[in-house]
Amino acid sequence: MSSDAAATADAPVDPHAETIEFQAEARQLLQLMIHSIYSTKDVFLRELISNASDALDKLRLASYQDKDLQVDTSDLHIDLGIDPAARTLTVADNGIGMSREEVVSLIGTIAKSGTGELLAKLRDARAAGAGSEEASAELIGQFGVGFYSSFMVADRVSMVTRKAGSATGVRWESTGEGTYTVIDVEDAPQGTAVTLHLKPADAEDSLHDFADPATIRRTVKRYSDFITWPIRLLTPPA
Ligand code: ADP
Ligand code: MG
Repeated sequence: MSSDAAATADAPVDPHAETIEFQAEARQLLQLMIHSIYSTKDVFLRELISNASDALDKLRLASYQDKDLQVDTSDLHIDLGIDPAARTLTVADNGIGMSREEVVSLIGTIAKSGTGELLAKLRDARAAGAGSEEASAELIGQFGVGFYSSFMVADRVSMVTRKAGSATGVRWESTGEGTYTVIDVEDAPQGTAVTLHLKPADAEDSLHDFADPATIRRTVKRYSDFITWPIRLLTPPA
């Protein structure tokens, strides 16, 4: 498109689109996730639900501490939206959300201590050869690799988030391969929605098809039964 064509009267305000490189350690961890053959891929859902639950806790606290904060805390919950036809799974919360700067610093880098240690242990487990798969799975389960574990089951992840009290939201998207994009969005709902574009299902492993509501229900029960916020399963009408 020429710049003239882009500058029509109805063109949106500069959405400030950027493509940003993941920090080096983040890239390494993502590669491990993308190429993971671990059998306990289902821990990704535990991680996303735990982030959503934290975000709801934080919003409730923020609304107590700041009476002027313009937020709706009447129906705090977590939605799990499944679209089997599109093979997408969306984990949405109406919690605290993230600013654009937070998205870049929290999701684009690994600030967590212990991540270097995890990477080293994973490499050791892999180098050990036979039987290492279980060891790796156990390590990932123990450490909890957080948001990045989405890339064990998804080949593309997008996220729309809006920080409580802010009018503008941000859309983040990545295939986990080196870079991610961020762009401002005007109509973002309160909180954060993470959409996983799921990898093709393994025909021989229907128990791990995460576009199947039964799999999601079972996985939530297994790992997230203790979550105190309501978790709703949304499936398209049959
Ligand atoms: P951890 O939860 O251990 O910090 P994660 O990779 O799971 O590591 O998440 C990194 C950070 O990104 C979180 O600490 C949080 O600040 C932010 N974050 C992730 N998911 C959400 C969410 N749904 N809402 C708000 N912030 C989030
Ligand atoms: Mg987390």
